[in-house]
Amino acid sequence: MSAPLLEVRDLKTHFATKGGVAKAVDGVSFTLNRGEVLGLVGESGSGKSVTGFSLIGLIEAPGRVVGGSVKLEGRELVGLPSSELRKIRGRHISMVFQDPMMTLNPVLKIGTQMRLALEAHERISSRAARDRSIEVLTKVGIPDPASRLEAYPHQFSGGMRQRVAIAVALLHRPALIIADEPTTALDVSIQAQILAEMKTLVSESDTSLIWISHDLATVSSLASRIAVMYAGRVVESGPTAAVLRSPRHPYTRGLIESLPTLAEPGQELSSIPGSTPSILKLPPGCAFAPRCPRAGEPCTLELPPLTNGQREFRCHYPLSAEV
Ligand code: ADP
Ligand code: MG
Repeated sequence: MSAPLLEVRDLKTHFATKGGVAKAVDGVSFTLNRGEVLGLVGESGSGKSVTGFSLIGLIEAPGRVVGGSVKLEGRELVGLPSSELRKIRGRHISMVFQDPMMTLNPVLKIGTQMRLALEAHERISSRAARDRSIEVLTKVGIPDPASRLEAYPHQFSGGMRQRVAIAVALLHRPALIIADEPTTALDVSIQAQILAEMKTLVSESDTSLIWISHDLATVSSLASRIAVMYAGRVVESGPTAAVLRSPRHPYTRGLIESLPTLAEPGQELSSIPGSTPSILKLPPGCAFAPRCPRAGEPCTLELPPLTNGQREFRCHYPLSAEV
């Protein structure tokens, strides 16, 4: 077996705030293989975006990656100077944001910005840049791509604009795309279309994808594996179908049972009692313990490490595995 594309070990990103140290990401570990789609899921504020930004060195003061390791094809990214990270961003790893205008420049024609994006990392003729731009716009389902190169971002609908931003992310055939809630702001039907296209896209290339979403249903339709975050930590990860069928962490089960689309027909939907803890004063031990129906004394004392293997979870009293 070849080495994983991305190996994240015990990543920690903290923010110095007036109220104390906000441990937004506090020991996140996961592995991503080539061509794999990993869904990073968790409630709002669980640290998904900060994790995504940390992977590509986009954390700004008062935030800082204070520990851990991010290896891309074996190369350590944590601690690289920003000049080196700039060479990797956009080229080997690209990011798609919830707001496509984080990627697009409002005053430049799409064709111009795509050419500039290409030229930022390689010597390329205008002709080749144009061909490549048309190719990626076609891939994301933009009709009549050659003429759309002349359009400005505001001349696209919200869904089409997000497709253009995804096309920009594809320009350099990156090994990894990190997509942070890219369809959250879109209509449900457009969301479904883009999800379907992303599925085709990744299956036709070797590009790996980290799809970040607060919505477990969206993530599970796309991802082959999921990692569930709670209060800055991955509490469970594994193959999507297996995790949904038989979650091992009580928090994952709570998430699944609160989803209308994943619950058994006729089953009453539940919500997890209590609220997410403040990351400024996390309890020692498992951050979910105060809300957990299975918690016992060890849970308040220490957080166990992730188990090893296909199914990883951090829990003293995991749910039993269904076969
Ligand atoms: P998610 O994407 O899962 O909704 P985020 O990764 O955006 O959550 O945020 C995780 C935590 O980090 C939140 O509690 C948020 O308040 C905190 N955080 C993010 N950015 C900053 C910042 N610039 N300063 C202080 N805290 C921050
Ligand atoms: Mg976010």
